[in-house]
Amino acid sequence: MEELAAQNLILWMPVLSAAIGHAIAEVGPDHQRERWLPRIACGETFLALAVTEPERGHNMLRTQTTVRKDGERFLVSGLKAVTSGIDLAERVLVFGRTPGEGKGGAGRHFTTVLVDPDAPGIEREELPMRWREGARQFQLTFNDVEVPLDGLVGAEGQGLLALWSFTQVERLMSAALCLGNARYCVNRALDRATQRTIFGKQPIGAEQAIGHPIAHLHARIAATQLLVYRAAARFDEGADTGEVAAQATMAKVLTADLLFDAADHAMQTLCAQAWDEREGMIDLYLDARAARSAPISQELALNFIAQHVLGLPSHR
Ligand SMILES: Cc1cc2nc3c(=O)[nH]c(=O)nc-3n(C[C@H](O)[C@H](O)[C@H](O)COP(=O)(O)OP(=O)(O)OC[C@H]3O[C@@H](n4cnc5c(N)ncnc54)[C@H](O)[C@@H]3O)c2cc1C
Repeated sequence: MEELAAQNLILWMPVLSAAIGHAIAEVGPDHQRERWLPRIACGETFLALAVTEPERGHNMLRTQTTVRKDGERFLVSGLKAVTSGIDLAERVLVFGRTPGEGKGGAGRHFTTVLVDPDAPGIEREELPMRWREGARQFQLTFNDVEVPLDGLVGAEGQGLLALWSFTQVERLMSAALCLGNARYCVNRALDRATQRTIFGKQPIGAEQAIGHPIAHLHARIAATQLLVYRAAARFDEGADTGEVAAQATMAKVLTADLLFDAADHAMQTLCAQAWDEREGMIDLYLDARAARSAPISQELALNFIAQHVLGLPSHR
């Protein structure tokens, strides 16, 4: 992901697919591991994710979508916002509430199922988001959509476990993506800074106002890369999931800010040229900004570090 993004190829669907694949690998069942993992690894299939809801935002514990067992099938009902790449996906992992749990059905039991995006009862509405992250974005409505029992990922009522596995990989890979794209931005700025001469005989990179931020970004890339690689190595070594989640979340926060600053200074260095759509800088800038809000916002990621890594209290 880092190297593709360093060539300005922002491919979000492989991130989602790999993260869902990891959830399947962790919580099963076996027939899904056999069916999906080799094809995800080969890049033969994409899987989408439907967690976010228009009225609930980041708070998935307030999910209103229901995944209800009904005889030999599940029925899914609800509304999901900002679902990336449903037009490309073979299945979408839907996170919903298990009805009947807790007071008034407001318990903390959730179920995750893989749903065929073309199943009867699903309506999709494309959102005008200009192909953010290299994918089209959709709002989905589920009207009692039937899912066979073998679509269940993990155990019924244990959907949070599937999302916990998903989250580590999604944050880690999005950090790698941001890191690579920051490198691309620095290279674009460097090209312009060494080629364009306005005053005197030296190109604009000789001006410290242009050159120092590039040097600073280069140093930040070098340092942040160490954290991303360490987090990836600890993940591969099978380290404790709490440790991996902490490092992946820190990497996500640092790389999203790094990418935004790198895109901003690349815009400044290219100046008017950056606003020519053909340069690709405007989309780069918007994607860099989106990385501060998705897949998890900087604030929610910092909440995780504050509360679950540092042990700071929560106001709730
Ligand atoms: C391009 C793009 C693609 C996406 N693709 C998908 C997808 O495929 N599937 C999917 O499920 N979701 C997807 N999302 C949703 C995304 O991952 C976030 O979950 C979603 O943007 C958050 O919901 P919201 O916009 O309603 O923000 P809200 O939850 O309403 O938050 C609004 C702001 O308040 C802040 N905030 C809220 N609560 C707190 C708090 N307790 N402490 C501090 N700050 C707080 C947030 O950080 C944020 O800045 C996508 C989003 C984008 C932008």
